[in-house]
Amino acid sequence: MKKIQMVDLHSQYEKIKTEIDDAISCVIDSTSFIKGPAVGQFASELSSFLGVRHVIPCGNGTDALQIALMALGLKPSDEIICPSFTFIASAEVIGLLGYRPVLVDVDYDSFNVTAKNIEQAISVKTKAIIPVHLFGQSAPMEAVMAIAKKYDLYVIEDTAQALGADYIFEDGSRKKAGTIGTIGCTSFFPSKNLGCYGDGGAIFTDDDKLAEKMSMIANHGSKQRYHHDVLGVNSRLDSIQAAILSVKLKYLEQYEQARYSAAQKYTEALKDIEGLVVPKEQSFSTHVYHQYTLKVKDAKRDQLKAFLEENNIPAMIYYPVPLHKQKAFLPIARQGGDLSVSETLSEQVLSLPMHTELDNEQQQYIIGKVREFFNK
Ligand SMILES: *Cc1c(COP(=O)(O)O)cnc(C)c1O
Repeated sequence: MKKIQMVDLHSQYEKIKTEIDDAISCVIDSTSFIKGPAVGQFASELSSFLGVRHVIPCGNGTDALQIALMALGLKPSDEIICPSFTFIASAEVIGLLGYRPVLVDVDYDSFNVTAKNIEQAISVKTKAIIPVHLFGQSAPMEAVMAIAKKYDLYVIEDTAQALGADYIFEDGSRKKAGTIGTIGCTSFFPSKNLGCYGDGGAIFTDDDKLAEKMSMIANHGSKQRYHHDVLGVNSRLDSIQAAILSVKLKYLEQYEQARYSAAQKYTEALKDIEGLVVPKEQSFSTHVYHQYTLKVKDAKRDQLKAFLEENNIPAMIYYPVPLHKQKAFLPIARQGGDLSVSETLSEQVLSLPMHTELDNEQQQYIIGKVREFFNK
């Protein structure tokens, strides 16, 4: 059996090696390493795939969030609502720019924000919401957008884990996660759904003015070379990464299907175990399974993790500490209500290996070991 990894990027690369190597060579031959044609080409391919007017590539997913917030022109001490159960980047940029993160609880089943928790946390200072589409499934965007409209708030979608997922509206129509709010942000970190071979990120929007502003901010606040209208940052996707992403974008749906089938296999085989909760798919979103995250009850999570590791099965805790308990946030964040679900999740979550190259033999072995732990 092939060694089990959380994500097997090498096996994935082997299958498309010729195409990737050619794409990389092509950029090296051209020596257009920065702002080469490959970057514009990838941006336009991604914008067709997502059905969004503008895609602005940038250096990474954290920069994408930062640039999006910088473009809103908020005032110091303005508040931005964000879930407490997420990766640090979602809220880090809020504090970094001098705004106040207001951390709200999430739904136990979906790991995502709820409209009710957001609405309860709104104050006169609230200016924006950052819903995070955690683990591959969209947050309840229709309800989030209704609140945003009612209170006149911006919505910045953190789509770093759900690129490619469809949001399904009540009338049955669909839009890609990340294209419903004011601005969508994503990451091309190697292990993400669409991962490059280094760092990368992108911002998307249908708003022409915001798109222009965000392009400027990502480029030292400049539209015309050596003329700087606002303070910006230097955040670029390089041409080699863009060329790799153009190749991998063609396989994105195939990759989603591979992860989806693997997830169904886990769920079928583990759903009867008492004390173990398998992921629940929401009616309003497709699931692209960036992570396959179980909830392990009765304080057995760490024992299960250790048991799997003894059997050469990696398993990860995303995330062990909710943001409202992180030292970095204690002095700056406001708790937007009760956060007990986030705390419970931090104690229960365990993500199993999930990637496009997981084979049946590996999965049967993992399933067997999980069942053995529960004496099943
Ligand atoms: C990965 C990730 C980011 C940040 O992306 P980087 O490219 O690593 O900066 C932001 N938010 C979430 C939810 C992520 O998973």
